[in-house]
Amino acid sequence: MRNSFTHLFSLNLDQEVLGGMTQLEKQQIPEIIFQTEKRDEEQILAEMQNQIAKEWVYTIDVRGSKVTSLSYAGVKEAVRRRGNFRFVPCTHCGKTVHIDEDEKEYRAQLTVHDENRNVMFLGAAAVPRNFPFAWVLAVNKAERNAMRKMLPEKQIALLVEQFLRKGPVVPSGKLG
Ligand SMILES: [Zn+2]
Repeated sequence: MRNSFTHLFSLNLDQEVLGGMTQLEKQQIPEIIFQTEKRDEEQILAEMQNQIAKEWVYTIDVRGSKVTSLSYAGVKEAVRRRGNFRFVPCTHCGKTVHIDEDEKEYRAQLTVHDENRNVMFLGAAAVPRNFPFAWVLAVNKAERNAMRKMLPEKQIALLVEQFLRKGPVVPSGKLG
């Protein structure tokens, strides 16, 4: 059993992780993303139902291989600790989150500015309209996708390692 740290949503898989993967395992990456998406959707919904999301880290078992990643709650906590991020309003509609919708889905898009490093990242997500809380899910997933890009791979690996070892006790100020 291996335990590897990944940053699934940017697909910037750690070189060491990729190097250690067989061709078959690399083909499983979309499955890992699918499973992580499902967990995050469940967590967003759980938060909306006023349950506290305690898990900061997911460990997903993919045919005997353990893949560990920061969860939605973990990403938010990391971003909270680091601070100094700002949403950039849409140049088209002026809203923080740009929403498009058709009869099938909601599409949310937002831009986050990292004021420490002066870089901007886009987060986008689409959710079928027939999902419960579809609009909120789309917005939260878009935010999560942008925020994940803000966290450098090494910090994610460090956070995952610390969360796994002793729970969420990363001292503030250690990030970024
Ligand atoms: Zn807009």
